[in-house]
Amino acid sequence: MIFTRFLPAVLLASIAWAQADYDLLIKGGHVIDGKNRISAVRDVAIKDGKIAAVAADIASSRATKTVDAAGLYVTPGLVDIHVHVYQGLTRNSYAAGSWGLQPDGYTLRNGVTAVADAGSAGWRTFEDFKTRIIDNQKTRVYSFINIVGAGMGSGGIEQNLQDMEVKPTADMAMKYKGLIVGIKSAHFNGPEWTPYINAEEVGKIAHIPVMVDFGGNVRAGRTLYDLLNKYFRPGDIFTHMYGGHRGEQDPETKGASKAMIDGRKRGVIFDVGHGSGSFLFSCAVPLMKEGFIPDSISTDLHYNSSLSGMRDMLNVMDKFLAMGMSLDDVILRSTWNPAKEIQHEELGNLSVGSPADVAVLRLEKGKFGFLDQSGGRLEGTQRLATEMTLRDGAVVYDLNGLGAVPWEKVPPRPAGGRGQATPKKQ
Ligand SMILES: [Zn+2]
Repeated sequence: MIFTRFLPAVLLASIAWAQADYDLLIKGGHVIDGKNRISAVRDVAIKDGKIAAVAADIASSRATKTVDAAGLYVTPGLVDIHVHVYQGLTRNSYAAGSWGLQPDGYTLRNGVTAVADAGSAGWRTFEDFKTRIIDNQKTRVYSFINIVGAGMGSGGIEQNLQDMEVKPTADMAMKYKGLIVGIKSAHFNGPEWTPYINAEEVGKIAHIPVMVDFGGNVRAGRTLYDLLNKYFRPGDIFTHMYGGHRGEQDPETKGASKAMIDGRKRGVIFDVGHGSGSFLFSCAVPLMKEGFIPDSISTDLHYNSSLSGMRDMLNVMDKFLAMGMSLDDVILRSTWNPAKEIQHEELGNLSVGSPADVAVLRLEKGKFGFLDQSGGRLEGTQRLATEMTLRDGAVVYDLNGLGAVPWEKVPPRPAGGRGQATPKKQ
């Protein structure tokens, strides 16, 4: 009896499904897609979790559902390649200790659909990271595996040269190719080059880039010039590029140092990695003024930074708007560029056939203030906010309910059940 009552509804639904060309249409928004060089009002159609069409005018009648995005920006889901989303196995320890955050609560509400954890896990802990975090998030989570087997942590873990082994790190990187997108070295303070030499070895074996946080203490004989111009391969990533205390600036002009300029010429990638201790306007503003702009914008998201001047991905992007970068450039450096850097070129773009990871953003105008790590403030007149985030075509965040129906039209729940009725198996 239950089956026959449901039959007409199922038939109707299947007819409607068959008639609609698209599952969802995002209509009338200003699309910014750096890969495809689009910055114009376009409609974006989605079918089966993929981008199905991007065109000037797609009729709403062709889609099962339409979202009105007039006055909003429609971009690829943002890609943040420097976050810390693994708590690790060491208690009361920073970074891979108590600083790691569960990503979904921070990413999706910022339009971020893909992140790369920057070295919280090493080969000894990566599979725990995968099981507990990576496999359980709506956000796509990738990893720069730490050259230190134990990953990040305090108490000398990151200074232990004995635990920076090439073979087990490379084996893990090869076992999880595609998920492990790079190798990280961070916070090393010794005079040796061992962490970088070993990380490069792994990079050559697994054909993935090395990302370096050059520590808090640049030793004599271990210069940024040599890191970027002798040890790095093209495609390797210098994060914390506006940290200001690792040799980024020319001591006299305060502009980019020769190390940075020569590094860029040979193809080194420069990434923001804002964090709670690696972004100063006194470094960023002069470098931006002379055109030394980031290849990728990233947060260095962790517990501490989320409550400091960094806040979140959109706030970091806002700072670049405030320093004079165009919105198109800011989006490019938060989508397509970082996707390329981690060799996930299916992401960060709205090409037909790409996964429908989409951010719908509002650009608010007003008087805003932005902070760096030192508490320095920069004023700005624009601020981004997320209206809607889609992952594989599914709405995973919808601030104002653009994709929702008026509450009076929500079908009643069946007695004793939750959500919509589904036919029971007989
Ligand atoms: Zn970091």
